Amino acid sequence: MPIVRAVNATKSFGSNEVLKGIDMDVERGEVVCLLGPSGSGKTTFLRLINQMEVLTGGRIWVQGELIGVREKNGKLYRRHAVDIARQRAGIGMVFQRFNLFPHMTALGNVMEAPVHVKRVPRAQARQRALDLLDQVGLADRVDYYPAQLSGGQQQRVAIARALAMEPALMLFDEPTSALDPELVGEVLSVMQQLASNGMTMIVVTHEMGFAREVADRVVFMDAGVVVEQGTPEQVLGQPREERTRSFLARVR
Ligand code: ADP
Repeated sequence: MPIVRAVNATKSFGSNEVLKGIDMDVERGEVVCLLGPSGSGKTTFLRLINQMEVLTGGRIWVQGELIGVREKNGKLYRRHAVDIARQRAGIGMVFQRFNLFPHMTALGNVMEAPVHVKRVPRAQARQRALDLLDQVGLADRVDYYPAQLSGGQQQRVAIARALAMEPALMLFDEPTSALDPELVGEVLSVMQQLASNGMTMIVVTHEMGFAREVADRVVFMDAGVVVEQGTPEQVLGQPREERTRSFLARVR
């Protein structure tokens, strides 16, 4: 079983069907970049995987388990909240906006979930957080508050914070699009390093250079469907579909 499997996943908000049947497998260690125009459903798809939204139809498995529901005697039952929390704890998510706790230092932000959610002993959580902050190049900023950090530094703290829960899968939702251009590179290079260490990642991005260099697979979505997917060379270099071609012409 792949780490993520979506079968005919649909999502509507009222009468607006924003995902119209997504089939997608993501294998362990794979880096998948989701591209597509604004409003095509990319964020919604990530939010479904992370159970910030509930599916309208179809099914999604994460690490071999149906999310949100369980199946018994051919019937689906809603999972208990603790079960959903456990499933979500296996997934790290990084948003466009960094969403750090403003009243906590970088170190405090990274330690928070392991200590309060996973009940990791403080000293152990602290050591792990220091290692992670070092890994994202912030060893000298551990005692700084978010307001004292640049956007790129805050986003790297957010990545370290997500990694602190030892996720099996990382979801990135346009992690660099709120950054000043000169700060984009430092965040992408942390993500690239993570990818080369074997992390499974689904990345919504408009950074074509990153997609080309780091993605194993590029998935192009438009209007709630997967239009085409393949290697970066194929989708970005020789797109088969007209919709992909016109999107790429616009973002380049
Ligand atoms: P993308 O990430 O590709 O820009 P989104 O997944 O953010 O696309 O949005 C897809 C569509 O779903 C948009 O039309 C958006 O307005 C709609 N949408 C997203 N979230 C909600 C919500 N909570 N309530 C109503 N409509 C929503």
